[in-house]
Amino acid sequence: MPAEIKGLNEECGVFGVFGVQDASQLTYYGLHTLQHRGQEGAGIVSTDSKELYQHRDRGLLAKVFANPNELKRLVGDAAIGHVRYGTSGHNSIANVQPFLFHFHDGDVALAHNGNLTNAVTLRRQLEDDGAVFQSDSDTEILIHLVRKYIKEGFIPALKKSLNIVHGGFAFLLLQKDRLIAALDPNGIRPLCIGQLENGAYVVASETCALDIVNAKFIRDVQPGELIVIDRDGLHIDHYTTNTQLAICSMEYIYFARPDSIIHGVTVHNARKQMGRLLAKQYPIDADMVIGVPNSSLSAASGYAEESGLPYEMGLIKSQYVARTFIQPTQALREQGVHLKLSAVRGVVAGKRVIVVDDSLVRGTTSKQIIKMLRHAGAKEVHMLIASPPFKFPCFYGIDISTRSELMAAHYSVSTMKELIGADSLHFLSVENLIKAINIPDAGDAPYGGLTVAYFNGDYPTPLYDYEEGYLKSLNEQEKRARKELKS
Ligand code: AMP
Repeated sequence: MPAEIKGLNEECGVFGVFGVQDASQLTYYGLHTLQHRGQEGAGIVSTDSKELYQHRDRGLLAKVFANPNELKRLVGDAAIGHVRYGTSGHNSIANVQPFLFHFHDGDVALAHNGNLTNAVTLRRQLEDDGAVFQSDSDTEILIHLVRKYIKEGFIPALKKSLNIVHGGFAFLLLQKDRLIAALDPNGIRPLCIGQLENGAYVVASETCALDIVNAKFIRDVQPGELIVIDRDGLHIDHYTTNTQLAICSMEYIYFARPDSIIHGVTVHNARKQMGRLLAKQYPIDADMVIGVPNSSLSAASGYAEESGLPYEMGLIKSQYVARTFIQPTQALREQGVHLKLSAVRGVVAGKRVIVVDDSLVRGTTSKQIIKMLRHAGAKEVHMLIASPPFKFPCFYGIDISTRSELMAAHYSVSTMKELIGADSLHFLSVENLIKAINIPDAGDAPYGGLTVAYFNGDYPTPLYDYEEGYLKSLNEQEKRARKELKS
């Protein structure tokens, strides 16, 4: 295993419904709204109380279900679905979810958003005990554990297993007579419950998926909860009460759709507030504020409002290009940014421009944007990032589980400014990030109920399999920082 284990099951979206006609069709709409959470694969499993039916493939949802017969085949009044965001190399169909497992005592389908931090150890133990895995995804581990304890009954076995797996997880399971949802003890990934007019329940990664199917928001799934939905309705249970909310702050910064409401906070409003606080933290003398479509537009509008500077459209985005972030090589990523974004010469030429972006990870986007704006005649380009420097990896299910690629892990802000070619570079502070999001039901949870480990290295859980590689990378990092100071 490499020093830093690459997560195999990255940011994804899940959707499930129980008790409505054409459940797979509804799941299709829900997944469509969650497509921003994963573009590499998609699938749906449905049930008609007799059997479970599956269709999954690589690619965007519309491509996976391009043949309408595939959806028609998924009959029944309950279904779960998944959109997958994986990285290159592991994009085989075996890793596309929901997984479907056949057992003599009843089939089970499983979909997962997140990443398990003790997956390598568990998998080794299970394999040594005779388990045979079909995929290289960490998700499959849960079902092997359930089978190990199945003599205690399905729900007790599941509860036990959920206490053995660690990390960030939002699981959906489907059996012929029920839908089950479970969230990790820190609620790192978002998961919410809604209800359709006919009373049927819906579970989804984000509320935008409830809106599209006309489901009324009921509640967020809370850390440590096990929700069972069956013919008798909704049952809220726990597999652990040792919980503390630490939802991934990147959901608010970048991942979630702006119209989603997570733990009472509208994502757009949180981003706008990040922009406002950034303007307070770093007022800059310039002619205009521009955003980077689409992800930073909320933050940019907040910065403009607070600073009183005109909000302009200095960059436009081609609607026909997929995301650049997951391109396997740096050269392809740079090319990808060019295909995706263009500077509007008539707006920026001769102007002092403030660019607000939501985050800076590798620095590819910022560097290319600044080059483009200068090429289009911008006189000054100030880069303002509406989140803190991304210095530490995420082990809970976003595609940043190694430090090697993180620009802020290797360089000071002033060196980064030089590397991306900006006139100035500034980041939102961690305090302001927490203030901007301001989760109302966070109670006394540290960092306002958020995981901000990517910015301060303070992880809400032990890192298990990742610990050794992480510590090693920290040492290397320190050496490099000392070298940078000397030179
Ligand atoms: P980079 O070009 O590597 O600095 O990436 C930063 C840009 O990618 C930001 O402007 C975000 O909009 C976007 N981004 C941030 N985190 C992620 C992620 N985990 N996956 C995909 N895109 C991301």
